[in-house]
Amino acid sequence: MRRFGLSKSRITYGRQCGKRLWLHVHRPALAEYPPETMRRFAAGHDVGGIARALHPEGVLIGWQDDLERAVRETARALERPGDLVLFEAAFRHRGVFVRADILRRRDGRYRMTEVKSATRLKEYHLTDVAVQTWVLEGAGVPLAAVNVAVIDPQWVYPGGEDYRGLFREIPIADQVRPMLAQVPGWVTGFLALLNGPEPAIATGPQCHKPFDCPFLPYCEGREGRAPADAAGGGEEAPQAPDPALGRVDPAASAYLASLPFPRFYLDFETVQFAIPVWAGTRPFEQLPFQWSCHVETSPGVVEHADFLDLSGDPPMRAAAEALLARLGDRGPVFVYTDFEKWRLVELATRFPDLAPAIDGVTGRLVDLFRLTRAHYSHPALNGSYSLKTVLPTVDAALAHADLDEVRDGLSAQAAFHEAVAPEADATRREELRRALLDYCALDTLALVRLAHHLERRPRAVSV
Ligand code: SF4
Repeated sequence: MRRFGLSKSRITYGRQCGKRLWLHVHRPALAEYPPETMRRFAAGHDVGGIARALHPEGVLIGWQDDLERAVRETARALERPGDLVLFEAAFRHRGVFVRADILRRRDGRYRMTEVKSATRLKEYHLTDVAVQTWVLEGAGVPLAAVNVAVIDPQWVYPGGEDYRGLFREIPIADQVRPMLAQVPGWVTGFLALLNGPEPAIATGPQCHKPFDCPFLPYCEGREGRAPADAAGGGEEAPQAPDPALGRVDPAASAYLASLPFPRFYLDFETVQFAIPVWAGTRPFEQLPFQWSCHVETSPGVVEHADFLDLSGDPPMRAAAEALLARLGDRGPVFVYTDFEKWRLVELATRFPDLAPAIDGVTGRLVDLFRLTRAHYSHPALNGSYSLKTVLPTVDAALAHADLDEVRDGLSAQAAFHEAVAPEADATRREELRRALLDYCALDTLALVRLAHHLERRPRAVSV
């Protein structure tokens, strides 16, 4: 039997799906990571860096590309007497290699802390830490305490690179110790799996839990293709739903017809930071950096306005002021779900001097999602009322508009991060700016189309 190396990550993959582990080791080139996932990897690194900065006395065991050297350096560091703090300490036990995010020794007792870019303890964290604990103790480091450090979502960044209080340590030894007896079985099982052929595992719920699997395109392509397609026959374009099959409750049409003009159609794009970068903000807070607003000044006559700040400075105040100026003090403001409402509430809390005007806007919101769910049906919806499902039943051409890299909220966030990064050149920044503007404008144009459809008005709109 060939002896494959295992690591904490590989065991986590194997626990998610044996085929994922097998593909990761034998056919890694098949993995496809969307840009937003790549951004999350980067965010994970930021979290580790901040955790290290909070322990200035700590020593980083580097040698990321030389595991043998990292293990030797760790052993050497541990030979030194007295208290110590090590980052990325490296250990191997029975062919399993791990690094401990933070390993502290005080008065001869060891405490290990795994740092997670999450706000609460998750099931897979326990597996992670069980493997770490099994390896460290097998390598001769008895652990008196085993913790996970998660991000406190209520913590507010005071600015000045002061991240004290950002993390909350949760002791989990009592949950992890009972799992240790299972680790040798995982190791033996995964080594046997890696020595065999590609496992025949069908796609299922495991493909998204606890992580989206990067091999999904490969697995779906192999399993979903008809023989003719597999031979290069091509795929048939999906049939567009027929808008004529939709049923609109006349009460919804009458309600919409009663609303005055001007009418506004609003959508926010927001960015979240695991580690806040703007003073006064919290981890993972939804911070508006862009909005789009179509304004229907009279029936069928529509203008467009937007806001986008890619300077890298806090965009929230300018976004709020520009929005208030555009919305004025009268006219319904159409949105889809409560997302915009909560962003407005947060902006009012953040900027008390703008709160009366923002509260006025909040009072004018009309939620097209609730209206659609209560008064519209179409056989193609299958119970889903997300805008992405509803729009093709209303306006198939708009639903399939050509959007490249920004096509949903997550990719909009990824585009924002890339555009504000110092290394982004002017050409690339302009591409991203254009993509963000196009995407957000399409979302609010979709609201215009939907409102007209529900009102049973002719589609003709001049923009
Ligand atoms: S896509 Fe699903 S079935 Fe395929 S390897 Fe990933 S988790 Fe396994």
